Amino acid sequence: MKTIVAHAAKDLRIEAREMPEPGPDQVLIRMAAGGICGSDLHYYNHGGFGPIQLKEPMILGHEVSGHVAAIGENVTGLKEGQLVAISPSRPCGTCEYCLEGKQNHCLNMRFYGSAMPFPHIQGAFCEYLVADAAQCAIADGLSAGEAAMAEPLSVVLHAARQAGDLMGKRVLVTGCGPIGLLAVLVARYAGAAQVVATDIMAFTLGMARKIGADLTLNVADAPDGLDEFAADKGHFDVLFECSGVAAALSSAVPVLRPGATIVQLGLGGDMTLPMQAMTAKEITLQGSFRFHSEFFTAVEMMRTGRLSVDPLITHTIPMANAVSAFDLASDRNQAIKVQLAF
Ligand SMILES: [Zn+2]
Ligand SMILES: [Zn+2]
Repeated sequence: MKTIVAHAAKDLRIEAREMPEPGPDQVLIRMAAGGICGSDLHYYNHGGFGPIQLKEPMILGHEVSGHVAAIGENVTGLKEGQLVAISPSRPCGTCEYCLEGKQNHCLNMRFYGSAMPFPHIQGAFCEYLVADAAQCAIADGLSAGEAAMAEPLSVVLHAARQAGDLMGKRVLVTGCGPIGLLAVLVARYAGAAQVVATDIMAFTLGMARKIGADLTLNVADAPDGLDEFAADKGHFDVLFECSGVAAALSSAVPVLRPGATIVQLGLGGDMTLPMQAMTAKEITLQGSFRFHSEFFTAVEMMRTGRLSVDPLITHTIPMANAVSAFDLASDRNQAIKVQLAF
């Protein structure tokens, strides 16, 4: 079977691997859709990010869905041919964080397509994948592409949980990549009174408006565009910082109300913070990293029509054209979520 393997920066190859076989409690999945994520792009464009670098060839991909092709012993509740979204979160279940219910902090996490540990954890951009049945969320009624959006949606549901109650709140989203756009959708769904989104690209801001942002600001064209919200010690109750850009966070602090919460999702390296202003406003800084149980919630929310992620899937490209798919996904002028079709 074919897989998509990153060897180094700009060295992406389609390579054959042996066909896997499902063991007990596992299923074999004929993969259907795989979304290209920011982390996949870092491996493709730069060979990694910060201290996390490719040290051996690694199959990319963790936003995936497919159809059950064979069922291992002991598996109940899944049928051959069924569409499933596959959670890339594979905690050990026995370390101290797993036992505390903080599986996203598992000491032995085997998250698909991650060069954090060595040997690297191979990813899921393959024609066939063996997964634990417990990783599979039944995605009946969704397209394969929508099912593959469960992972980024889970990231945002976890972040929304960190933010607390959003009902009636004024929400600012900085950075309108897939995560920021999903934050717009989730904030609306959770009852936010107002959602304002910023970015530096007209294309992504257009998408933010299309999916329901009340107002968008292009901070490249108008760097002081947020200033009007600074009166009376600020306007927003919650910031979802999805850009990972230091300037986005520091320029948002003046428009946050006293007692506001910053949920940091963007991973852009270390930042200098306006700590004096944050202290005086009693602002809470809350990190958010990955997810675990939210994956199944995400699939149910999509299946029951609570929110639609469909507009964010701007391109679907056959696996054979993986290199052009990765180049396209790197172009924020025309792509939001690029998915591979296997
Ligand atoms: Zn992702
Ligand atoms: Zn663990």
